[in-house]
Parts: sequence; C-alpha cells; structure tokens
Amino acid sequence: MTVALLGVPYDAASSYQRGAAKAPPAIRAALRNDSSNSWSESLVDTAAPGFITDADDLVLDRSPDPFGAIQSAVSHLLDLGRAPLVLGGDHSITLPVLRAFRPHYRPLTILHVDAHPDLYDEFEGDKYSHACPFARVMEEGLADRLVQVGIRTMNHHQREQADRFGTEIIEMKDWKDGWRLQSEGAVYISFDMDGLDPASAPGVSHPEPGGFTTRQALSLIQSVEGLIGADIVEYNPDNDLRDLTARVAAKLVKELACAIHRRKGDSPTGRSHTT
Ligand code: MN
Ligand code: MN
Repeated sequence: MTVALLGVPYDAASSYQRGAAKAPPAIRAALRNDSSNSWSESLVDTAAPGFITDADDLVLDRSPDPFGAIQSAVSHLLDLGRAPLVLGGDHSITLPVLRAFRPHYRPLTILHVDAHPDLYDEFEGDKYSHACPFARVMEEGLADRLVQVGIRTMNHHQREQADRFGTEIIEMKDWKDGWRLQSEGAVYISFDMDGLDPASAPGVSHPEPGGFTTRQALSLIQSVEGLIGADIVEYNPDNDLRDLTARVAAKLVKELACAIHRRKGDSPTGRSHTT
C-alpha cells in the first residue's frame, strides 16, 4: 500500500506555545537532506517510485472548520487506497484523523507514544485542546484499544480517565526494552515527538525529561505488525537545535513507512540493489 504524506499545519489547540504548524515543511526538508540517504534500516529505499507519495500540506489558515477539512483530506486518501502518514501540527489533529480512519478499520488498536496521556476531559476550557484528543477518541469509539507508552506526566484526573476508558498504559518508569505490542488486526501509531527524551528531540513545546531514546523509538516502530497509518505530531521548529528534531522525525517517517509496507500481503516494492 502506497504511503501518502499529508502535512497538517495546525497548532491553534496548543496550550502553552505555538509553532507546531511550521513542522511539515521542516520534516520534508530533513527527509530530502543530502546528509543522509533515503533507505530504511530494513534495506528498503523509501524514495523508490510508489513507496511514499506526497499529498502536500492542507491549507487551513482561513478554514471555518479545520477539523472537518483534516477529516475529509484523510478520508480522501483512504478512499484512494493510500495509507496516510500525517505530519502535524499539534496533537489535537489526531481526533479528526482517526474519525477518518475508523470506518475503514475494525478492530483498530492505537499505539500512542507520548510523555503525556492527553486524556483530559477539558483543558483550559477547551475540550479539543491538544491535551484532550484521546478522551474524545475513546468517547467517540474510534478505537477498540488505546495503548500508551512513554508516559511520565500522569496525574489523578488522567488516571481516572484512563480507568474509565480502559486505556492500557506503560509508564516510562516501567518500560522494558524488547516490549512489543500484541495485537490482532489494524494498528495506528500516534507519535508525539515529546515521547522522546528532550536530549533526543529538543524541538518540542513541552520537553519532559526521562523519555525514549531515538533508538528505542525506532526499535519499537520496527516491532509493530499490522500498521495501517500514523501521525507524527508536536514537532516545534521554533525550539529545535540545528534541525536535530526534524532529522529524528524524518527517520521516523522512513521507518513508519516501512512498517506500513510490511503488512501481510504487501510486497516490498522499495527493495532494489542500487546504492
Ligand atoms: Mn500529545
Ligand atoms: Mn506530549
């Protein structure tokens, strides 16, 4: 299945600092940067024809209904038989993205990588804040399972919310290398860049010490079976250092695209022997 990159430059639901809307072009630039090549660690050329297509960035500046526009753009790609790989944007965008995925996939498991559970019933009066998307996702029945990893900012309210929704959480303090998601059917990965340690990914709005290394995140992605789509959110170029975090996001794009292509029945179209 061809992966389709879709940029969603939206950060109006950020609670602390904006800037994530600038992420999609910065991640694309890192993906094309000549300092690296286009191959994944599984020896697939992600620049091979038909492996990844680019659906460009949505234009949301004057949209009266940004969430509706995001949902219909993702629905359109799914109707074309593409696997959307969405470049945020803040984490609020995952809600309209999953509204589009849900009719296509049952059962659906979400693997959510983040420092934060994002399960607030509301945050600063906003039920659609980037601190709330997974509360809405579970209330709307957009996933059969929500599995969160990397979490290290739990509080009482979000613990209650997690219990209410049956969210499976592996807090970062309890992480064991080699863990893998056991699941049947389709898996969607929502990857908040602040799930990584700030030493690995400084370019985020809410840096939270004690997170994943880039290596741990790559190994996790490489272990997932049944991946049908993903988002990479919360990269904030305003806080980045020498594009380090953009480069990490670009590497995640390559490995996520390969994980999507690894689905049962998909042929490894990117495989070749050129250098
Ligand atoms: Mn988040
Ligand atoms: Mn976060």
